[in-house]
Amino acid sequence: MRESRARDSILQGGVPIRDAGFAGGGSGVARTEQNGCGFVKPLLLSMVVVAASISCGETEDHAEWRVGCARVSITPEEPVVLLGYGDRTQPFEHVAQDIHAKALAFEDGRGRRAVIVTADLVGFQAAVVTESVSDRIRKETGLERTQLLFNASHSHTGPLVSLDPWSEANAIAHAPLSPDDRRKTIAYTRALQDRLVAVVRDAVSKLEPAQLAWGRGSVPFPMNRRLPRDGRIAMADNPQGRTDRSVPVLSAQTPAGGHIAFLFGCACHNTTLTGADNVISGDYAGFAQVYLEERFPGAQAMFMSGCGADANPSPRGSMPLAERHGRTLGEEVARIAEGPLEEVRGDLGTAYETVELPLQDLPKSEIQERAELPSAEAVTARQMLRVLEAGEPLPTEYPAPLVAWHFGRAFTLIALPGEPVAEYVDLIEATLPNQQLWIAGYSNDCFGYLPTEQVVGEGGHENIGVTLWLWGRDLRRHVGFFAPSVEQTIVGAAARMARRQEP
Ligand SMILES: [Zn+2]
Repeated sequence: MRESRARDSILQGGVPIRDAGFAGGGSGVARTEQNGCGFVKPLLLSMVVVAASISCGETEDHAEWRVGCARVSITPEEPVVLLGYGDRTQPFEHVAQDIHAKALAFEDGRGRRAVIVTADLVGFQAAVVTESVSDRIRKETGLERTQLLFNASHSHTGPLVSLDPWSEANAIAHAPLSPDDRRKTIAYTRALQDRLVAVVRDAVSKLEPAQLAWGRGSVPFPMNRRLPRDGRIAMADNPQGRTDRSVPVLSAQTPAGGHIAFLFGCACHNTTLTGADNVISGDYAGFAQVYLEERFPGAQAMFMSGCGADANPSPRGSMPLAERHGRTLGEEVARIAEGPLEEVRGDLGTAYETVELPLQDLPKSEIQERAELPSAEAVTARQMLRVLEAGEPLPTEYPAPLVAWHFGRAFTLIALPGEPVAEYVDLIEATLPNQQLWIAGYSNDCFGYLPTEQVVGEGGHENIGVTLWLWGRDLRRHVGFFAPSVEQTIVGAAARMARRQEP
C-alpha cells in the first residue's frame, strides 16, 4: 500500500539520487545517498578559475576547507502515526513527498571536524535519538558530541519518533496508537537511529576541498502567531508581533566554483499543512530543498530551523501554499548564493554545553487552576497533576544542550534547543554586538517551547513548557512550565559560549 508517487518528478527530476527507501523493520544495514560531492564542473569555468587562483599564489590543493555531504531517505515504508496535530486519528494516508536526513561535514585547515545533520522531522529528542546516536557516531568516527549538531525542520507532517509511545499523550499532538502502531513507531525509530549514524559516517568519508561563503536574505511569509485577544493570547496571525524573517545561507563550492551544498535557515513553523493533511511531507522546507536541488543539479540543500516558535507560514492550509512558500524560500536562497557572499576563512571552533533551564515551582492549587485553562497550557498542567498523583516529585530544572560554533571570523552559529521564540534573536544579538550571528532553534533536543520572560508572563501556546511526554511514556516526569528566568539562563549561556570561542 502506501505511496503516492505524484511528486517524484518534483523530487528527483534531473538529480541522480540513489534513494535507499526506509526499512521500517530495521534491517540493521542503513544505506545512504550521496549527492553533490562528486561535482563535475564545466571545463572552461574550471580553467578560468584555476588560472585566477594560480595568479594569487594558491592552487586547488591548498583549499582551506574540506566538506562532505550525504543524504538518506527517512520516508516510512509503512503507515505510522505522525506527530504535530492532535486531530489526526489514524496513521498517515500516503506519501506526498519523501523526507530525508542529510549531513554536511566540515574540516578546517587544521583538520578540525564538525557535522551538521538536518531532517524533515518535528524534532530531535536527546533522550530518544541524539544522545544514543551521538554515542554511536563517536565510536565509529571519533567525532565528539561538541562536533555534532542535529537540527529538525519541525515539519508537522513527519512521523512520531519514540521508543516508548503511549496513547495517553495524544491530546495535542498525535493520533491514538494501537499495539500495531506502537510496534511500527518503535521499529521506525530504531531504523531512523541507524540511518543517522550512517549518514554522518558517509558525509565524513566524502570530504573534499571546498570554499565556504555565507550571506543573508529574507522571506515575507513567516507571521507572528501570538495575537492578544480578550486578555489572552490566541493563536492567530499578528502582523504587529516580532518575527525573524531572515534567511541565512552557507554555500559550499568546489575550488572551481561548482555548488556542493547549501545550508539555509528560516524561522517559521513548518505548518503550512494542517491536521487535515495526514500525509508524509517536508512542508515548505521540503519544497525549498527540492527546488534548490533541481535548480543546482548535484548540490545538496539542507534546511535549518530558526527561532520560529511563535511564527506560522501565512497564508497556510494547503499543499499548493506549502509549495509556494517553499519556492519563495528556495528562490531567495538561490539569489543569495549567486550574489556576493562573504568568504568563510579561518578555523572552526565548536562548543557544546548542557544548561539547566529553571522550571516554575507551583503549588498544587495553581496547577489545578491551570488545568482548567481553555488552552494547551491545561494539558501540561494535567500531566503535572498525574505525576503528583503518582507520588512522584516534579522537576525544578530541565537540562538542555546549547551549541556555539565559530566559522572562522565570518560568523558564529548559535544553536538553541527546543522551540525558541523570535525575541531570542534580538536578545542574543544585543549581547554579542561584535559578532555576525546565525541563531538556530530546534537543535539537539526538542522538549517543547522555549519562551522568553515576556511569553511566560503573557501565557498562550508557547508557554506550555516541557512537553516531552509526547515522545514517550518514560519521559512523562520531565514536565513543567519554564520560570521567567529561563530567558536570562539561555541568553547568558549563549553569550558566554560564543565569547569563549571568540576568534
Ligand atoms: Zn512547534
